[in-house]
Amino acid sequence: MNADDTRLLRIAYEEAKAGFDEGGCPIGSVLARGGEVVAQGRNQRVQKGDPIAHGEMDALRKAGRQKTYRDTTLYTSLSPCMMCTGTIIQFGIPRVVIGENKNFGGNEEFLRSKGVEVIVADDPDCIALMRRFIDEEPELWAEDIAE
Ligand SMILES: [Zn+2]
Repeated sequence: MNADDTRLLRIAYEEAKAGFDEGGCPIGSVLARGGEVVAQGRNQRVQKGDPIAHGEMDALRKAGRQKTYRDTTLYTSLSPCMMCTGTIIQFGIPRVVIGENKNFGGNEEFLRSKGVEVIVADDPDCIALMRRFIDEEPELWAEDIAE
């Protein structure tokens, strides 16, 4: 984690918090290049009724077409699910910074096995926000992780 990582992960957290305040799943994401935000987004399951619009997918969609992802880092407040993990690998994103994987995780080693650098920040704010969401909205959380 360098200073850019700390700053950009914070933006992902703020996206997550905005999602929480909207009544959605509080997961935010940022696609960055050279320490600059390319696009930022958040889970839109509730807001747009879109089950595929996870935080990472929303950020990548907002980023639009990119000639390459080889020089990018993807920040996400919560460890990526298998759909988003697949997208990270498919797009060739070489580096992922994860806010936390206490509340959800499991694909970190798979990403690493595909050559992706994975950093887990163990961010207390990300952990606390997800914990609160899971406690307050267990059915919505179960829906988001297909359980
Ligand atoms: Zn996902």
